Amino acid sequence: MSLAGQLYKLQQLDVELQGKQQELSEVENQLSDNKALAAAESRLASQKEGLEDARKKQKNSDWELEDLQEKNKQISSKLYSGKTKDPKELVNLEKEAQGLKSQIRAKEDALLGLMSKVEEIESEVKTTTGELERLNKEWEQKQQILRPRKSEIEVTLAELKGERNRLAAQIDSEAFRLYERIRLARGQAVAKVERGRCLGCHITVPTSQWQKARAGDLIQCNNCNRILYLE
Ligand SMILES: [Zn+2]
Repeated sequence: MSLAGQLYKLQQLDVELQGKQQELSEVENQLSDNKALAAAESRLASQKEGLEDARKKQKNSDWELEDLQEKNKQISSKLYSGKTKDPKELVNLEKEAQGLKSQIRAKEDALLGLMSKVEEIESEVKTTTGELERLNKEWEQKQQILRPRKSEIEVTLAELKGERNRLAAQIDSEAFRLYERIRLARGQAVAKVERGRCLGCHITVPTSQWQKARAGDLIQCNNCNRILYLE
């Protein structure tokens, strides 16, 4: 194989390597992307916190209602037991009973509101829990596909790198350095010549140049500087 041929083969390996590297990083990105899952987890956590808070409020409201009802019972028994005879005291007790009754009604209304709030959050928690389960399952399935895919790509990459090293070791070191220099500047260092044109820049190559290239000399395109390769 000519020197340009070796460099062309090296370039093919480099292109393949680059593609595989790209594939690997895409798979790795997908493997680490669990944003939807994390968002659902944090939503569930805050909903559970809200639920606990609402339940606490409901319980407190329940106790307050019990207290009011107990007080009301005591006043009622004072009012209707016949023990209290003083009319002024009876009027006061009556007033107190009225006040308590309206407090009890207000408390009962508030309690109903709190209970429906608790129910509402309970149903939200249920929905998010279901969603989280679904996302977790999807995540697991994705991992099961992507993990072996990743290992597969890594094996191929290792093989390609080995092949590249073996080939690079056979190539004249000055030509290899030239290849690396052009590759850095141009992306690809070797260009095929077809129908007298450099396929790197599509400019016509002088006949004497491509003849030399075909004879095995290392010739660079006058226009794009790439190493010319004729099959
Ligand atoms: Zn060119």
